[in-house]
Amino acid sequence: RAIVRDLTGVAEQNPALPPGRVPIQEVDPTVFETRFLRKIKDLGEGHFGKVELCQYDPRGDGRGQLVAVKSLKPESRGQLWKEIDTMRELYHHNISSHSLIMEYLPAGSLKDYLPWRKHQTDLKRLLHYALQICQGMDYLGSQRFIHRDLAARNVLVENESTVKIGDFGLTKSMKEDKSYYTVEEETDSPVFWYAPECLVDCKFYPASDVWSFGVTLYELLTYCETSSSPTTVFLEMLRLTQGQMIITRLVEVLMAGRRLPCPPHCPDAVYSLMRRCWESSPENRIQFKDLITELELLLD
Ligand code: ADP
Ligand code: MG
Repeated sequence: RAIVRDLTGVAEQNPALPPGRVPIQEVDPTVFETRFLRKIKDLGEGHFGKVELCQYDPRGDGRGQLVAVKSLKPESRGQLWKEIDTMRELYHHNISSHSLIMEYLPAGSLKDYLPWRKHQTDLKRLLHYALQICQGMDYLGSQRFIHRDLAARNVLVENESTVKIGDFGLTKSMKEDKSYYTVEEETDSPVFWYAPECLVDCKFYPASDVWSFGVTLYELLTYCETSSSPTTVFLEMLRLTQGQMIITRLVEVLMAGRRLPCPPHCPDAVYSLMRRCWESSPENRIQFKDLITELELLLD
């Protein structure tokens, strides 16, 4: 939001706009003119597209704002417009003002940030991040949205004490269409963050986001280290044999009651919160409201 307003100001003071043309920002402050964007470097790549660091420089004097620009692989272009519409509808302190053009957060995602900050990040800080994620998710749920891709890679670090939920690529409103995202089988796919009902029936409930939050909490407590990541640990657990399908095996293992292990140095009380997110049936899972209460108690 802040950055959008700043840039609107810049455009209004800009006398170089062609005469007789209404600056596009006056019509819609969430639309930027791409000709004023200059790429600086790549920031990250996800399942559906990539994010680049750019300067939005309508005056052309090299002093424009730094912004993160998201573009999608051609096959997922339709998704981007949905994501922009979602972002216009949602606004919350712990949800990044993320659209085609986002505020640039130099620290990147928790996954980019945490492995390098292990020694500066104590349990209390990790639980604060967890609490903020739950607050953002509780807001999302109150607006009747399901995120469907909650994971450390999609939580952005604003500063060392504030994180925001980003990547609304898969977010769906429960009001609209009933079509579900079909899961692709690839090691880097979000299947290891998915609840059984998502894997079995491709159904996503608000409680499915709670399951993914549990996996995200596990990532926080392992400082997002690749060696103990959900993908690494689940793949070891699955013991796949030639030709076996990942999702089929994953469902078997989860139905047998197996779960990600308690991370090293993780207190029992925190691991038991993860376990309450990983109840097999959605109706038995803890909700974000109660997670907020429990985390606040732990932080007291
Ligand atoms: P995808 O839908 O392709 O997964 P994401 O929105 O998750 O896209 O972004 C992919 C990666 O780009 C993130 O994991 C993060 O490393 C980086 N990134 C995304 N948004 C920003 C931002 N606003 N500022 C800095 N880095 C970002
Ligand atoms: Mg992502």
